Parts: sequence; structure tokens; C-alpha cells
Amino acid sequence: MDNLIKKAAKELAKSKRVVALTGAGVSVESGIPPFRGKGGLWEKIDPMEFAHIDSFMRDPAKVWNILIREMKDIVDRARPNDAHKGLARLEELGILNMVITQNVDGLHQMAGNTDVIEFHGNFAWQKCLDCSKKTETFKISLDEIPPKCACGGILRPDCVFFGEMIPAEHLLRSRKAAYECEIMLVIGTSAVVQPAAYIPVAAKESGARIIEINPESTPLTGSISDYIIKGNAGEVMKAIVSEVEILL
Ligand code: NAD
Ligand code: ZN
Repeated sequence: MDNLIKKAAKELAKSKRVVALTGAGVSVESGIPPFRGKGGLWEKIDPMEFAHIDSFMRDPAKVWNILIREMKDIVDRARPNDAHKGLARLEELGILNMVITQNVDGLHQMAGNTDVIEFHGNFAWQKCLDCSKKTETFKISLDEIPPKCACGGILRPDCVFFGEMIPAEHLLRSRKAAYECEIMLVIGTSAVVQPAAYIPVAAKESGARIIEINPESTPLTGSISDYIIKGNAGEVMKAIVSEVEILL
């Protein structure tokens, strides 16, 4: 693994056009469990039952009680780990240009990255179903479920549920970034959810090198990834950034 980290750092240190694609795995060391895989939330609950927009509209209280309440508890407390911090440092060094994430926890921005495309929106805000007014999630009281807006409308997370569209401008910008980058870091994503799974393929198609960081194999491993560094995101990113700093 040390050798792979050194090789990856050498390539990163030479580049000014790097894009990162991150999934739930990048936030595991911040205490936010992933959906799929070991210990994932999907082992406990059925996504179609709790994370589909139709389920939410049918029974908002049920979805608030089983899924959103737990997420709020966890996300309110979470802080960036060494993987988020490493990506912020790579931006500071002029190497990383953009983070494309499937996460809704806002930890990349908290760490300091300034250009973050959030495919699935951000859990930091709740939106009223009636008047569309937004309220910060940490300010919401859970005394009443589902929580309500001042106008009496029900609040929903400002995230993309299953069954909802990812905003087109996010897709267009991230596809452009994928075509233009020299290196794509793919961190903590199982790479099975479209359209995020397509992004590294688009990068590879236009000649980018793909560096994958994940403790487990994914559909990208052994097909389009040039390096697969098997390890935890925080640990690996910390080691990579230290190497990059030595090389600069
Ligand atoms: P996923 O849950 O499908 O997969 C997580 C991946 O992370 C797996 O490949 C796993 O091997 C890897 N992983 C686990 N621990 C890791 C670690 N310490 N370091 C690096 N990798 C690790 O996640 P996904 O592919 O991102 O897709 C699921 C969807 O769930 C996302 O679209 C996202 O919206 C949502 N989600 C978001 C959060 C969050 O905001 N933090 C948390 C859970 C789920
Ligand atoms: Zn309202």
C-alpha cells in the first residue's frame, strides 16, 4: 500500500486538474454510516420503503421517525475527518479543482473545499412542502413529528429522494469536469448508483488517471481504476497529502 500511496502522490503533485468523486465511505470515519455494505443502513431498513419520495408523501411522520430523525442526530454532530481535510488541503495547494459528492452531510464545505457539487442536495436545510421556505436542520425541534414550518406546512430535507431528479446543471457541470480532469480521485463510493457511477467512466474515456480509495472492491476496481488503494479514506488521504507536501 505504501508504494501505491507514493505513486499516487507523485501523479497528484504534478497535476493542477484533479477532481474528486466521493460517496458515503468518505464520511464513515466521521461517524456517519454508509447505506450499502457492512454496517450500512440498508441492512436495517428497506430504502424503497423509507427513502423514496412516494413513501415520504404518503406518510411523512413514518419517514421522519425511522430515517430522518436518526440522520439528523448523526449529521448534526459530525465533523470533517482526515479525508475531507486532505481534499481541502489539495485545493489549497492548487491541485484539486472540484469535489463531486453523493453525500448530503456538508462535510466537504466544512473542511474548506469551495467548489462542491452535491448530487443529492444537502441535509443542512429543510424545505416547507407548502411555501418552500428553507430552515436550517439544526434549528428544527423534533418535539412534533413531522416538524412543521411557521406556515403550518410539513418540512422535508432539501435532499434528492429516490424517485426524484438530480438537478440537470449538476449533471452537466460534473460531466464537463470529468472530461477535463487529468486525475480523478474516487473515494468511498460503491460506484453502483447512477449517474455518479458514470462519472469516473467519463473521466477515463477522456484520458484521466483514476485513483480509487476504498477498503472493498467495487465495479470500477480492476476495470477502469489505475490504482486501487485498499484502505480507509481518512488514513489513506492523510498519507497521500503528506507525500504530496514532501514532493512540492
Ligand atoms: P454506499 O453506501 O453505496 O457505499 C459506501 C462505500 O464506501 C462502499 O463502497 C464501502 O466499501 C466504502 N467505505 C466504507 N467505509 C469506508 C472508509 N472508511 N473509507 C473509504 N471507503 C469506505 O455509498 P454511495 O455509493 O455513496 O451511495 C449511497 C447514497 O447514500 C449516496 O448517494 C448518498 O446520497 C447517501 N448517503 C449519504 C451519506 C452522507 O451524506 N454521509 C451517508 C449515507 C448515505
Ligand atoms: Zn411554509
